[in-house]
Amino acid sequence: MNYANVIINVKTRQLDQLFTYVVPPELRGNISAGHRVVVPFGKGQFADGLVWSLTDKPPRFKTKAIVEKLADDYKLSKTQLYIMQILRKRYAATYQEAYLAVLPSVQKLDKIIVYSISKPFDDYQDGQFFDGAELLKNYTQSEINKKVKNGYLARQVKFSFKHNNKTVEWVKPLYDNVEDALAKIAARAVKKQRIIKHMAYLDQLPLRDLTAATRATRRDIVALADSGFLAIEQRVENYAVNSYSTSQQTKTVKPLSADQSKVVRDYRALDKPRAALLIGVTGSGKTRVYIELAKKAIEAGKQVLVLVPEISLTPQLVARFSEQLTTDIGVIHTYIRPADKVNIYQRIKSGDIKIVIGARSAIFAPFNQLGLIVIDEEHEYSYKSETIPRYQAVELALQLAQRLSIDILLGSATPSIQTHHLVDTGVLKALYLKNAFGAASLSDIKIVDMTALPKDTLLSSPLIEAMTQCFKKREQVILFHNRKGYARSKQCHQCGYVHMCQNCAVPLTVYEGGNQFVCHYCGYREPKLLKCPSCGDALIDIGFGIEQIKKQLNLVFPDKTFAVVDSDLTHHHTKYIETLTAFKAGDIDGLIGTQILAKGLDFANVTLVGVILADQLIHMPDYLSSENAYQLLTQVAGRAGRSAKAGVALIQTYQPEHPIFDYVIKRDFDSFIKEEKQLRDMVGYPPYVTLFTVKIQSESKLAVYQQAQRLYDFYDKNFKRNAIDAQVFQPIQPFYARIRQRYRAQMLFKVKRESRSAVLTMLYYGIVKDKYNLVDPKCWVDIDFDG
Ligand code: ADP
Ligand code: ZN
Repeated sequence: MNYANVIINVKTRQLDQLFTYVVPPELRGNISAGHRVVVPFGKGQFADGLVWSLTDKPPRFKTKAIVEKLADDYKLSKTQLYIMQILRKRYAATYQEAYLAVLPSVQKLDKIIVYSISKPFDDYQDGQFFDGAELLKNYTQSEINKKVKNGYLARQVKFSFKHNNKTVEWVKPLYDNVEDALAKIAARAVKKQRIIKHMAYLDQLPLRDLTAATRATRRDIVALADSGFLAIEQRVENYAVNSYSTSQQTKTVKPLSADQSKVVRDYRALDKPRAALLIGVTGSGKTRVYIELAKKAIEAGKQVLVLVPEISLTPQLVARFSEQLTTDIGVIHTYIRPADKVNIYQRIKSGDIKIVIGARSAIFAPFNQLGLIVIDEEHEYSYKSETIPRYQAVELALQLAQRLSIDILLGSATPSIQTHHLVDTGVLKALYLKNAFGAASLSDIKIVDMTALPKDTLLSSPLIEAMTQCFKKREQVILFHNRKGYARSKQCHQCGYVHMCQNCAVPLTVYEGGNQFVCHYCGYREPKLLKCPSCGDALIDIGFGIEQIKKQLNLVFPDKTFAVVDSDLTHHHTKYIETLTAFKAGDIDGLIGTQILAKGLDFANVTLVGVILADQLIHMPDYLSSENAYQLLTQVAGRAGRSAKAGVALIQTYQPEHPIFDYVIKRDFDSFIKEEKQLRDMVGYPPYVTLFTVKIQSESKLAVYQQAQRLYDFYDKNFKRNAIDAQVFQPIQPFYARIRQRYRAQMLFKVKRESRSAVLTMLYYGIVKDKYNLVDPKCWVDIDFDG
């Protein structure tokens, strides 16, 4: 075939289309869909491209030829190309967004600009080459541009792979006292003041995070380093974990229990491609089933993908797989060194690595013989991407499995209603593990009524009593509370002043007993604030976080050791693993943590779980509120009672009569889900309708408002005119109206399943491609998907 339709890696959304190029004679027969190429694009420019399809049909206009083809090592696999199609069709991704999503970061091309000297000037001789950065040391960009215009320089674009081991600049504070440091900096140097405040309680921070959080420039930071306030260090990016390779010696194979064997048999007996949902109570040994099915797929010469909610949180899971398997496991997550990543991707591509365990984005790995996809804890929210393309990995995996005839198994103790609905519609077959494995029995769940206790009680007497008993037996405790830090916010009790983030319309969270303020949305930090800036009166803490609970625990149990675990800690991967290891070894008696504690942790010696305030979970302003509460409470309770020792879960609440507790205590998932489904069907929520949310952001408040109104009018009118069964709701302000200096609005579309693709097409043309000039350049508009 003589022509190639190519995806161009440029960001302009209006150009979301394929471009046709001539395949030069030397590449004919040697190039196919998935090959990466360099093509001429624009005047004298080149672009990184991906061959999407080949054709013999000459285009109606003159076309240029492909310049270069990248080695087959970089070719995208068929699986990756299918995923790109799904990303486009289902999540309105542009070609470029889909391309960048499936391309491992280590295989991305960097564009570099090179200049050749065509006429001598200053000290430069003709024929010499320089890269842009080098010339910029001696000339400004506009001087360089002028020299290009006057024929002294010729500009060329080259591509190179991103550096494998990047050096990263880290900043360390060198001052001991913030106030002293601030006093030495001019008051009008606002950004420098901000940097000093930000670093006050940090040991170190990557420079790019510091600039992002303080909106200062690199130059401000360098100036502070020059005057001795900060140190800047260059470091090769430090990744904690490498790949796991399993040894070839014989393994201690753990035989399946009778229940586990039955599930494996039932799954294998399904029609191909097999698709099932394994509903197995916590501690029932779902992992052992996954391993067995993985083994069988590998024996049949296939590759296996195991997705977990957050791989960096579950080293245990990887260890369990490697205990039982004799092939190497490719582990993919953010903390893998780029050089290792290159290696892993290459080995997945060649088929040398048979099994991959990873978080959400591991689904983009370059498989060539994928035969089984397993998704553990399929209900977890982390399977949803919060960046564009905003795909849902479970949904994406199901689509992929159907299209490419791949077996799939989803597993959870508390499946999402969305997924469970697929059992009703016959897409998935339900399989069950109804009992905890071996001698373990499910924990006993009890409600603690807080209404009679003094106000602001954090730890009720039944909980303290249970902890005392537990510690007596040298057993361990996990306490759950879904709020990071010390207090939710600081308020003035006189004038009501609330200490807010300066980039966001969000109260700052109080950390370290009040010594530190942090914004959870933009990362802005500042040190302690003693008095109300508005009236000078004292500030008080509002709402309590896990740090405050730890403080209380230290008072009640002075000879016990407690540690807090939250998502901040997981960013310090090594520290997190250390904490879990110390807990496992018994050096820590109790963990207090946020919802990351619910994610599959398995400690045999934990016999007591406490939920500090369940009320916080059951009153979220969201249609998913009950579902999430049910899942979290059940999962947290499941952290106790995972061995022969009996486990108890105590749930503290001010509403002991709330109906959800009845379902949770009885572990009556079937009744819970039945009722919840009826409700959603009646009111019109997923899985019975699809929701699209159009999100609008801008630095201008007015622009956001006008943009929202304009889109509302356009779609409301168009749906009515085209008799499309979809409801558009008036734009609203989200709970936090301003984040990272951008004002926000959003608009909900409720769409009947049959109209999903029609509506999405209209949103794609109107918003993604901006075909009707609806989108104000001052605004960012994008679409989120649910169901
Ligand atoms: P789930 O993921 O369903 O909550 P796990 O897979 O974590 O359950 O299993 C619970 C516990 O039972 C783990 O400690 C695991 O090692 C153990 N276990 C499960 N199946 C077996 C088996 N067949 N042989 C030995 N131990 C098992
Ligand atoms: Zn903020």
